[in-house]
Amino acid sequence: MDGYTTISSPLDAALSEARERYIARNHASRAGLALAATVMPGGNTRSALFYKPFPLVIARGEGAWLWDIDGHRYLDLLGEFTAGLYGHSNPVIREALLTALDGGLNLGGHNALEAELARLICDRFTSIERVRFANSGTEANLLNIMAALHFTGRKRVLVFEGGYHGGVLTFAHGPSPANVPHDFIYGSYNDIEGTRALIEANADQLAAVLVEPMLGAGGCIPADPAFLVAIREATSAAGALMILDEVMTSRSSGGGMQALLGLAPDLTSLGKYIGGGMSFGAFGGRTDVMAQFDPGVPGALPHAGTFNNNVMTMSAGIAGLSRLFPPATADALRTRGDDLRDRLNGLCRKAGVAMQLTGFGSVMNVHFTARPVRTPADAAGSDQRLRDLFFFDMVEAGIYLARRGLIALALPIGDAEIEQVVESVSAFIARRRVLLAG
Ligand code: PMP
Repeated sequence: MDGYTTISSPLDAALSEARERYIARNHASRAGLALAATVMPGGNTRSALFYKPFPLVIARGEGAWLWDIDGHRYLDLLGEFTAGLYGHSNPVIREALLTALDGGLNLGGHNALEAELARLICDRFTSIERVRFANSGTEANLLNIMAALHFTGRKRVLVFEGGYHGGVLTFAHGPSPANVPHDFIYGSYNDIEGTRALIEANADQLAAVLVEPMLGAGGCIPADPAFLVAIREATSAAGALMILDEVMTSRSSGGGMQALLGLAPDLTSLGKYIGGGMSFGAFGGRTDVMAQFDPGVPGALPHAGTFNNNVMTMSAGIAGLSRLFPPATADALRTRGDDLRDRLNGLCRKAGVAMQLTGFGSVMNVHFTARPVRTPADAAGSDQRLRDLFFFDMVEAGIYLARRGLIALALPIGDAEIEQVVESVSAFIARRRVLLAG
């Protein structure tokens, strides 16, 4: 026994055994966390990566593969929570970084790369007429909110329970002590009528609605397209701005999820892979809203940041978008993800187990419930112990994913790797069938 579980059921027993095997296999990771904990609280600097009994410490990556410090090799199905689209040490990204390095870091001025990356982004995402750079998706959302507040002269922001827009914009369970103190109101995701009513009731005070086209951290729950259309219509009628957080979903097509939906938000937040794997965030949209940031105009909104235009991010981002991820590749990756999810859901259905994957394209999440998952409340019905068991079993089978069950396919994941995933999930279902009966 490891002290975490009181054995009271076959599921608890299976989980306890899986955890014991995990502990036995990963001595170096365990020691690594203990050492880190002498200088960082809990040995951690990124909450999403922590789990019990201790997280794996990753030593290195190559292509679609990772190695931990105990020497195990894993197929990397996490893809750095969607930021690792290009895989590890992609030669094109590597070359772009070396070229940037050779030109000198920290130039302390406008550089030739920033407008090129901005042009690539504006060309792809048609609602983004003007864009500015930041260092994270969190910042991108903070700045879009700031732009909306200033533009409308209003203070209220509608967000959704279960939404995640960054470390200080986290709405998994409504308000959080970590959040910036804006005047937030909370809607229910995919509740079309309720959301419309909320926007109408707050029409004279509402600056913006901030929404993900798919709840990412909230369990890969896609928006009903009619939900997003309702937000678009109601915000326009209320004189509020619609901010679409495409930090995770922008990979869905050459023009993001918004292109697939024919949706034109006022502002869009970007992040993750668009910086080629370097720290990245971008915010932008309508010319008139973004013009507030024009520093040549008296009274402009300030937007500073030492690393906003850093040459490593700009160079890797340009190489990624222009050479590695043209729109056709984005479409192919979306299809690959949809196919994988369909196959895995087919396995679950065939076995009659209370397990399913939700998501869109190459980003998905496993849930252990038989009922359809359309809202965060549906996802909350998923048994956390089964998610943990799935994680331990997959890691033991050499597949790395997020503890919460997030999977994000990277470009180097090919047919052979997809087969490995299908076989491993199939083996999990066969082995744990009784526990998964629901
Ligand atoms: N928005 C969404 C939809 C995200 O998924 C994330 C990160 N998971 C963020 C914003 C925050 O991005 P970052 O971690 O780069 O601050």
